[in-house]
Amino acid sequence: MTTSLLWLRRDLRRHDHPALAAAADAGGVLAVYVLDPDHLAGAGPGRLAWLAATLRATAESFDGRLCVRLGDPTEVIPALARELGATAVHATAETEPAGRMRDDRVAQALAGMGIDWLVTGSPYAVTPGRVRTLAGRGYRVFTPFEKAWRAHGWRDPAVTPDSLDGPTPRQWIQPEAAALLNSWLTDCPIGLPPAGEAAARQAWREFRDERLDSYAEDRDRADLPSGSRLSAYLALGVLHPRTLLADLAGRSDPGATKFVSELAWREFYADVLWHHPDSLSGDLVETLTGMTFDEPDARYHAWQAGRTGYPLVDAGMRQLLAEGWLPNRVRMVVASFLLKDLHLPWHLGARHFREHLIDYDTASNTHNWQWVAGTGTDAAPYHRIFNPVSQAAAADPDGAYVRRHLPELAHLPGPAALRPWDHPDGHRHGYPVRILDHAAERAEALTRYRLAVGG
Ligand code: FAD
Repeated sequence: MTTSLLWLRRDLRRHDHPALAAAADAGGVLAVYVLDPDHLAGAGPGRLAWLAATLRATAESFDGRLCVRLGDPTEVIPALARELGATAVHATAETEPAGRMRDDRVAQALAGMGIDWLVTGSPYAVTPGRVRTLAGRGYRVFTPFEKAWRAHGWRDPAVTPDSLDGPTPRQWIQPEAAALLNSWLTDCPIGLPPAGEAAARQAWREFRDERLDSYAEDRDRADLPSGSRLSAYLALGVLHPRTLLADLAGRSDPGATKFVSELAWREFYADVLWHHPDSLSGDLVETLTGMTFDEPDARYHAWQAGRTGYPLVDAGMRQLLAEGWLPNRVRMVVASFLLKDLHLPWHLGARHFREHLIDYDTASNTHNWQWVAGTGTDAAPYHRIFNPVSQAAAADPDGAYVRRHLPELAHLPGPAALRPWDHPDGHRHGYPVRILDHAAERAEALTRYRLAVGG
C-alpha cells in the first residue's frame, strides 16, 4: 500500500478536509503535527494551552493515530517521511508569509528525496490570491472584494473517510512533545472553551439555531452573547468556513447575510496579506509614515492590565487576560485607545494580542490593527477616534459587561458602572482614576495626524 504523510497545521479536524481526502484516496495515511518553536514564538500560556487542548482532541478524533513531533519542520517532516517510506506528503496550503516560506523549504527537501509535496485546499472558502480585480490585482477595499468573493463562490464540503489505514511510526507522541503539551495544559492561566471538532460543531449549531436571527442587530453588543465565538476554532482549522457557508446556503436573511460578511472579512484580510506579505510588519498604506509616537511607559502597562480608569477598555483588557478572547467592538475600542489616546504604534498592541488571543490569526490581527490605525485597508480614516465612554454606552448600555469583568465596579448599578467618576463611591473598591483625559488626547492625536500627512 502507498503511504502518505498528512502534515496538519491550521486544519486540526477530521471532516470537510480536502487534504485528508486526497491523502486517503492515494492509500494509507499518517497524520502528523509539528510543534515548531519558531512558529510558536510570541504565543502566551493561554494560546499554547488552547493548542494543546485542541491537539489532544484531534488525536482522539484520529483514533490516536496522530504523530506529534517537536522541532523544525524542514527537518522533522522529511525525516518522518523517510522513516515511514512515504511517497508523498499532503498538506492544506499555508498562505501566511512565514508558513509559505517554510513550506517552500520543506517541498525542496522532499523533492531532493523523490517524495511528492501535494497541497490541497486552504484554511479559507476561497484560497487567497484567487479573487482578483479586472486588472488581475488583489483588492484593497472590502466591499468590492466581498462582491467578487461571493460571485467566485466555493466548493461543497469535502467528503472524508470514516476510518484511516496507515503505517505505524516508531513513536506516536515524542516524549519531549508530550511533556510540553502536558505542561501547557497544566499551566493554563485562563478558562478555555471546550476543545475539538465535536465541540466546535455543537457551538456552531447553537449559534445558528439560537442567535443567528438577532446577530445583525446585536453584533456590537458586548453584554449579550451576540457573536458566534467560533474564531478560536476557525483559527486552528477545527472548523472550516466552507462548512458554515454550506449550512447557510440559500439564506438571505439579515443574520445570515451579516455572518457571511464577517467570514468574508477574514478571507479579505488573508487575501490582502497574501498579496502584500510586507504588511505584516510595515504599514499597508504609507500615508502616515511621518507619524510620531510616544515610548511605552506606565500608561501602556495600565492598558495591558486593564487599569486605565475607562471601564469598557479595562473590561475588554481584563477579559483578554482571563479568557484569551474579547468581542469585536471592544477590540476596536481598546485598539483605538492604544493608538489614539496613548499614541503608541499598532505593532505594540498587535504583539500583546498575539500573545493572549486564543483566536490569534496573523492576517486578521495585523489588518484589524492597521484598520483602526488608519494604515490598512479602506473605511477607517485615521481621524476616526473611538470615544471609550460613548462606545461603552452603546456596547454595554446597562453596564453588565463592565461589572462582569471589573469586580471593583460590581457595586455600581446599571449604567453608573460606565461612569464611576460621576459617583461618590465609584472608586471605593480600588478602581483606578482615569490615567488620561480622552478629549485632550484626542486633540493631540489629531494634531499629530495632521502633521504626519502634511495637512
Ligand atoms: P463573529 O461575529 O461570530 O464572526 C464570525 C467569524 O467571522 C469570526 O469568528 C471571524 O473568523 C470572522 N470575523 C468577524 N469579524 C472579523 C474581522 N473584523 N476581521 C476578520 N475576521 C472577522 N479575529 C481573529 O480571528 N483573530 C485575531 O487575531 C483578531 N484580531 C483582531 C484585532 C483587532 C484590533 C480587531 C479590532 C479585531 C480582531 N479580530 C480578530 C476580528 C474579530 O474581532 C474577531 O474575529 C471576532 O471578535 C471573533 O468573535 P466571533 O467568533 O464571535 O465573531
